[in-house]
Amino acid sequence: MDLERLIAYLKRTGVLKSRRVEEALRKYPRELFVRDREKAYIDSPLPIGYGQTISQPSTVVIMTEALCVEPGQKILEIGSGSGWQAALLSYLTGPKGKVYTVERIPELAEFARKNLEKVGANNVKVILGDGSKGLPEFAPYDRIIVTAACREKPEFVDQLKSGGRLVAPVGFPEQRMLIVDRTENGFTERFLPGWFIFVPLIS
Ligand code: SAM
Repeated sequence: MDLERLIAYLKRTGVLKSRRVEEALRKYPRELFVRDREKAYIDSPLPIGYGQTISQPSTVVIMTEALCVEPGQKILEIGSGSGWQAALLSYLTGPKGKVYTVERIPELAEFARKNLEKVGANNVKVILGDGSKGLPEFAPYDRIIVTAACREKPEFVDQLKSGGRLVAPVGFPEQRMLIVDRTENGFTERFLPGWFIFVPLIS
């Protein structure tokens, strides 16, 4: 499998819908964020060390499409891992936007930082720390994405701006993909179809 075949597969299965997400996949190829480049375009999670994984491409694309990023937005990611998801978000929000990504394992925060630097995604700030309470320091955010499994709806939805959206896998041992929209009057919630398996969000 190479990048073109992966993109064709993601389109054929209806997962990849938008031109901009496709552009992001081409701009920041997954092979630049994995330890074993040979396997980069298999639609599977891959180990990145320390018991953690880079998520499978179809899951990353489902979440990225659901997030509906617009240029210039301020985005929070919890769970930097390899930095690949943050790089895709970096492309989508563009030079006027900003991505904050939080990682609790120091070696992985460094791995993500180096990968993002290598590819020139310079509107991303990697923060070493526990993201289980979000990142109040830079709140509110236009978009929040959690790339580790939450036991329940994250409390930090209140770090969203009005008009903002959160996408997070919720449940144990399997997860459903929760989408929360913050409106002027409160929050609306729904789940995407399907089930997912993520490493846990450690708090
Ligand atoms: N988004 C990543 C990528 O593009 O490679 C993959 C994320 S991986 C599936 C989940 C990550 O969440 C792991 O790197 C893990 O260390 C991190 N994590 C788990 N609990 C966390 C917490 N409380 N705060 C920050 N990061 C956490």
